[in-house]
Amino acid sequence: MKNIGDISFNGKRVLIRVDFNVPLDENFKITDDSRIVAAIPTIKKIIDEGGKAIIISHLGRPKSGYEERFSLKHIVSYLSSILKTNVAFNDDCIGKNTANVVSKMNNGEVLLLENLRFYKEEKLGDKLFAKKLSELADVYVNDAFGTAHRAHASTAIIAQFFPNNKYFGLLLEKEITSLEVVLKNPKKPFTAIIGGAKITGKIDVILSLLDKVDNLIIGGGMAYTFAKAAGGNIGNSLVEEEKISLAKELIDLAKVKGVNLCLPRDSVNANKFDNSAKTNTSEITNISDGWIGLDIGEKSIRDFSEIISASKTIIWNGPMGVFEMSNFEKGTKKIANAICKATQMGAYSLVGGGDSVAAIKKFGLANKVSYISTGGGAMLEYLEGKLLPGVDAILS
Ligand code: AMP
Repeated sequence: MKNIGDISFNGKRVLIRVDFNVPLDENFKITDDSRIVAAIPTIKKIIDEGGKAIIISHLGRPKSGYEERFSLKHIVSYLSSILKTNVAFNDDCIGKNTANVVSKMNNGEVLLLENLRFYKEEKLGDKLFAKKLSELADVYVNDAFGTAHRAHASTAIIAQFFPNNKYFGLLLEKEITSLEVVLKNPKKPFTAIIGGAKITGKIDVILSLLDKVDNLIIGGGMAYTFAKAAGGNIGNSLVEEEKISLAKELIDLAKVKGVNLCLPRDSVNANKFDNSAKTNTSEITNISDGWIGLDIGEKSIRDFSEIISASKTIIWNGPMGVFEMSNFEKGTKKIANAICKATQMGAYSLVGGGDSVAAIKKFGLANKVSYISTGGGAMLEYLEGKLLPGVDAILS
């Protein structure tokens, strides 16, 4: 792997693509700093060695051009406080003025450039825009795993302008290594837990996991489409009608491939989508009309926990219920606990995807799993066996 371990950065201008796409509240306060924290080792290594760190990132989804709420200026003071050094900010990411500011940087200094996505060329993967960015630096380091599955100008296209000076940052390297543990040498039994709202978006990963895992646990909103496929009554629970036949096919495919596909047996239901709703528990295939399944029930928790505790490799993407509401968080919390216990007993556990990560943090268990990925979509695509453009661009 082309990592930065052996590179000397002294005096070099280093363009570091990070993923500082962090959630901000209405006062522009960072509500989850994980992505910033994860990028620190790479930035520190570069400045400690006397490199000039020119940091580029996107933030949010600006429509066209500058939008105050998506300015990376909101990140500067926080970044400065955790790096324990001054961070300068430039209100553009390309152009003469930017080049001028970069030319005045001293060794070991940090400069954060404005949001790349204020230029539509970034997402379009525009070559000229990538070239302009590349002209700011001698070396390119990609540490943005969260966007490694996108062929954007700053994540993939830019690498061609650094044929002999392009590297993975420490975070990206760690992400790939963790995924490789799971893909190449998983200790058996290997269990995947897939939850979240919908099957759509996770079909490809489910299909590819069926070739790899011993157990595939399905929870969350998507489980109700499977329950309906099995002929059940699911009341007003989330359902993707057009995916019912696919759910049937997946059940059959799992049988053919000898994978233990575990669906929830029971469901905690609510009479409205609200934390204060009346609740009951029923078989997942026998939910009364008008009721909505919002969490897995005790029997499912027991079934799933048993499988998890016997597993030696575990991946988890997507919550088991609407964990954001305290009355429907129990299934997700218990499954998170089971994963942590299995990890304590020697299993390797990898958790990824915005919501499962948010859940595991909410329950204070983040340091009890083997690895938390900073990329949801990127992690799923890597597990599907796809080559990520951001990774490929460094390797090729
Ligand atoms: P995803 O982005 O597909 O991983 O979905 C995550 C979201 O799924 C979370 O916000 C959960 O609240 C939601 N979710 C989980 N279980 C259910 C359910 N039974 N009904 C509706 N939404 C759910």
